[in-house]
Amino acid sequence: MLTFRQFDAKLFFWLTIMPACRIYAIAQQKGGVGKTTTVINLGAALAAQGRRVLLVDLDPQGALTAGLGKNPLALSLTVYDVLRGSEAGIGQVILKTEAGLDLVPANIDLAAAEIQLASEPGRERILAEKLNPVLGAYDFVLIDCPPSLGLLTLNALMAATDVLIPVQAQYFALRGLDLLLSTIEKVKARINPSLAVRGIVVTMVDGRTVHSREALDELRNTYKQLVCKTVIPQTIKIADAQVAAQPIHAFAPASNAAEAYQRLAEEVLQQ
Ligand code: ADP
Ligand code: MG
Repeated sequence: MLTFRQFDAKLFFWLTIMPACRIYAIAQQKGGVGKTTTVINLGAALAAQGRRVLLVDLDPQGALTAGLGKNPLALSLTVYDVLRGSEAGIGQVILKTEAGLDLVPANIDLAAAEIQLASEPGRERILAEKLNPVLGAYDFVLIDCPPSLGLLTLNALMAATDVLIPVQAQYFALRGLDLLLSTIEKVKARINPSLAVRGIVVTMVDGRTVHSREALDELRNTYKQLVCKTVIPQTIKIADAQVAAQPIHAFAPASNAAEAYQRLAEEVLQQ
């Protein structure tokens, strides 16, 4: 039997060598910029490196849920049930997926949450509180945000330790970025001081076009070291993998996109 002192020493040992769970919000108020794609493929790349990964679908569109082979409309329990305070705890809602990633799924029910939760005290802290019981079981939690800066995204930013911002390599993609960054600054100042903006992930880069290269240059000139070193190439393989409901590293392991998400995972592991 362990004495109390031995137990204490053991606990201390584990606390110091075991890195705490990192929670990444993948956020951008614009749709179609690669948030869901990044959640799936960065998640799969981290899992391939032996990390325990939980993905949280926080978009009522349920694209992450569908992208991992689950039919959003056939689910009886989703993140919505957890947020609205039904008896189901987060543990009961987590699904195992074929990709080896755990998933908190969502469907269109979640669209009601913005309004229903609006009158709750501490409404921006609900997700953080609900995720807490399962954090010990994961090294990374990636939250797929909806394309808005509403209460759901605010909940993700409150629960998160880090934020990644996917941006398409196009000129007009820069618009709106300052608004997002200033929202994140407000969240940091008011409710989550330790939140770190880990970077802008430039997605759908087509190295053959001048437009794409110039947009990338402009992003780097404007946001400097905030832009992740790894950029994600534009490739039809990403869409094909999504149709097959597989992460790119399983669908086309030798593709540029699989390699890019692997490098992004390495950047994240060094953060
Ligand atoms: P968001 O979650 O920000 O709305 P998605 O990840 O769903 O964006 O991506 C939007 C669309 O762009 C999807 O159809 C997806 O297949 C496609 N897409 C995402 N990343 C790439 C890429 N690197 N190359 C080609 N198509 C991509
Ligand atoms: Mg999405």
